[in-house]
Amino acid sequence: MTVVELAKRTGQTIAHLQEILANVGEKVVSEFHPIGIDVAELVATEVGVNVRRLHSSEGSVLEFRPPVVTVMGHVDHGKTSLLDALRQTSVAAKEAGGITQHLGAFVVAMPSGASITFLDTPGHAAFSAMRARGAAVTDIVVLVVAADDGVMPQTLEAMRHAKEANVPIVVAINKCDKPGADPERVKIQLGSEGLPLEEMGGDVQVVQVSALKGTGLDRLEEALLLQAEMMELKARIDGPAQAYVVEARLDRGRGPLATAIVKSGTLVCGQHVVVGAQWGRIRAIRDMAGNVLESARPAMPVEIEGLKGLPMAGDDVTVVGTEERARLLSDGRRKKQEKDRLKMVNEERYPLAEPGA
Ligand code: GDP
Ligand code: MG
Repeated sequence: MTVVELAKRTGQTIAHLQEILANVGEKVVSEFHPIGIDVAELVATEVGVNVRRLHSSEGSVLEFRPPVVTVMGHVDHGKTSLLDALRQTSVAAKEAGGITQHLGAFVVAMPSGASITFLDTPGHAAFSAMRARGAAVTDIVVLVVAADDGVMPQTLEAMRHAKEANVPIVVAINKCDKPGADPERVKIQLGSEGLPLEEMGGDVQVVQVSALKGTGLDRLEEALLLQAEMMELKARIDGPAQAYVVEARLDRGRGPLATAIVKSGTLVCGQHVVVGAQWGRIRAIRDMAGNVLESARPAMPVEIEGLKGLPMAGDDVTVVGTEERARLLSDGRRKKQEKDRLKMVNEERYPLAEPGA
């Protein structure tokens, strides 16, 4: 295969492929430069193309997957309280008698059998950081607005973030238990800020809740499932997984642990993975109740053990065939990170155009 052919098959530009090839230590002299199947696979993996499917698109199963939800809103409007209340209704909380390990995400199962994955890190910084690293993890944003306080600067900021990321919003008007609560006022405010609420003829659902009393949570969950249904969220179930890290920490005994959410395919214990600039072989996969799993399917948050170093939130998890390839790819990425860092430092030191200089 040549670089030109690989560009055609992966839908990438030749320049981009040359950059990746250089990062994995492959010297490319021309676009007709022949590349081995091993390297081609490495590059294809790197640009997120399932190599086996380059040869055959048969046998790949698309199934509905649970939505992944992020909670955003103004400070003190009850993001953390709402997540806490929702977590109490989660699978693991029920299984483990309320004791769950903090993974950065949790799953709520509905009586219907459907489920919802919540990212457990509220706030705009986390959302932006993930997006900046190209991780389109969130499908739906829950915009929390306190019924007694109304729309505030960070409410608007959250609306902007969601819009930029093209992620639909479901509004949760919180603190409806408070004497000063005025949900109608909040709706009018949101409407005048350009949010097309359902009851005003738009498609944004609004649910009134109290995180403190635990009321309205079931209606919020139903609204989220309805939104997910309209989006027809589907994922490939078979084949190698594509996943994103939502949180990582160092455990004294078990080493680096990363919470990842699978976006497509199935992550299997024992696989070699590259995670951002780190690599490793998956030694164990656990769910949020600490159960050991053989594999993880789309929208499941799982903790993976076996990485050599600590990845960052937003890093992608890529499955590769061998340890050698895992090393090669992570080395390439690390070199690129270092190059980018040096470039940034240099640009800071020697700005191209210094005003007034
Ligand atoms: P965050 O900054 O958005 O994460 O807000 P928190 O969850 O930390 O909540 C801020 C404050 O509001 C805390 O004192 C909560 O106890 C309180 N609070 C949160 N939700 C409710 C609610 O539904 N009703 C009432 N009365 N208080 C709430
Ligand atoms: Mg909070």
